Amino acid sequence: PYQNFYEMLAAACEKNGRGTAVFNDKEKISYRELKRRSEAVAAYLQSIDVKYGDKVALVVSNSPEFVIAYFAVTAIGAVAVPINTFLKRDEFAYILNDCRAKVMFASVGLSKELKGLKKQTALESVIWIGGTEQSTDRHLSFADALACRDELDLSRRPQIDDLAHIIYTSGTTGHPKGALISYKNLFSNMAGAHEVFNVRKSDRFMVFLPMFHSFTLLAMVLLPVFAAGSMILVKSVFPFSNVLKQALLKRATVFLGVPAIYTAMGKAKIPWYFRWFNRIRIFISGGAPLAAQTIADFKTKFPRAELLEGYGLSECSPVVAVNRLDRQKVGSVGLPLPGYEVKAVDEELLEVPRGEVGELIVKCDAVMQGYLNMHGATDETIVNGWLKTGDLVRIDEDGFIFIVDRKKDLIISKGQNVYPREIEEELYKIEAVEAAAVIGIPDQYADEEIVAFVQLKEGMTAKETEIRAHLRKHLANFKVPKEIYLKDELPRNATGKVLKRVLKQQILDAQA
Ligand code: ATP
Repeated sequence: PYQNFYEMLAAACEKNGRGTAVFNDKEKISYRELKRRSEAVAAYLQSIDVKYGDKVALVVSNSPEFVIAYFAVTAIGAVAVPINTFLKRDEFAYILNDCRAKVMFASVGLSKELKGLKKQTALESVIWIGGTEQSTDRHLSFADALACRDELDLSRRPQIDDLAHIIYTSGTTGHPKGALISYKNLFSNMAGAHEVFNVRKSDRFMVFLPMFHSFTLLAMVLLPVFAAGSMILVKSVFPFSNVLKQALLKRATVFLGVPAIYTAMGKAKIPWYFRWFNRIRIFISGGAPLAAQTIADFKTKFPRAELLEGYGLSECSPVVAVNRLDRQKVGSVGLPLPGYEVKAVDEELLEVPRGEVGELIVKCDAVMQGYLNMHGATDETIVNGWLKTGDLVRIDEDGFIFIVDRKKDLIISKGQNVYPREIEEELYKIEAVEAAAVIGIPDQYADEEIVAFVQLKEGMTAKETEIRAHLRKHLANFKVPKEIYLKDELPRNATGKVLKRVLKQQILDAQA
């Protein structure tokens, strides 16, 4: 029903003007106030010459300011570029140059990596968030933006096919790629999620994953506004007890996490009253495979909870599929959102027989407009309107999607296809295992050797020989890793996904 997010925010204001849009530790911001502050910041952006179509980077930690800045940028038809706050200077410079960002919102806490980037990029201004300083010739402050009383010029409002934001995917090989996402893309995802979960203004979404991520941005920042519900901001996942306490105190109803969080919840000491008195109607997991063991442990701890797995990728805005309350299958990522077409295909993009493994391709209104400045990569990824996801799946007779593995993680060992996830699932069944990652390392015969990395639960032990014996018992010999390394910690990205490429590099470096 909307063309852009300014209309969406105005509608939320009408439905729930006095209701809380954002809760954080310190304050409650109503919809009216969110709209007012976004308009002030939007007018400020116009006063520093930000125009329709300009790119505005957001290197901002989770905060109400992130939300305000995002709605301010999009109100005037500028394009938001939320960037992973954990990157380092050169990575920021690469992205800022790639998208030619004109202005950047930046959290003061991140200034070490961000100061001086103007010299390396096309940035004209940086608006610092969280500082006490006033604007000077050299830097601008968010407080001044909020205080702007200039009239907002809304004569050029974005239309449904315009870009809302650009999301950079981490880029397992080469440089990060900027996925161009339109309003239509995002409304398609929101309408789908709304239909599936019936989100409403009484819903309160727990937000602790980083907002720059496509998954959080869509489901935890935009969707609440679409439904005129509330976001409950919690600074960090740690201590975890604080997340639960806030969920309880602020009466959260929707909890969106990644598998690492559910694994932690499955083994954490959860106060009995949380189990019974929380009002969370759905726990959603996405972003990485949710091991069957994690679901089982979680269910034991939270017998009344619905833990639903979903799946998506930045290139699809990001949601593709999710389990529903009334239609779900454990181990699957559910059914595609309403109206989304999916197929499992072979190398020639021909559909494989039902139940067989193929690459998932998707056709729907949420498929990105392409990658910024990368026509080649765009043409390889979107073929005749179908998005190639790079994920290997099985689709069953009821249409449920089962993610088998990432195509690029597939290991060919002794001439046979080995799916790392199958071995990882087996490792998770060992009581002492906290996290597991299995990768293939090329050997001298153009084959791959299987290597497993295992992180044990704190205070628990398991010997390599015991782990190996377990795998031998449950898996064919060719699937048993040649090496099993016990590690104190596995490298992870900002959303807790294990970084297999880092593990692979460590081994290759050690061999060199
Ligand atoms: P890159 O793909 O470049 O490494 P990324 O991981 O940051 O970067 P995202 O778009 O955030 O990219 O992640 C999308 C990918 O995450 C999917 O293609 C899929 O491989 C994986 N994924 C997401 N949800 C699930 C799930 N429920 N089960 C298994 N894998 C999932």
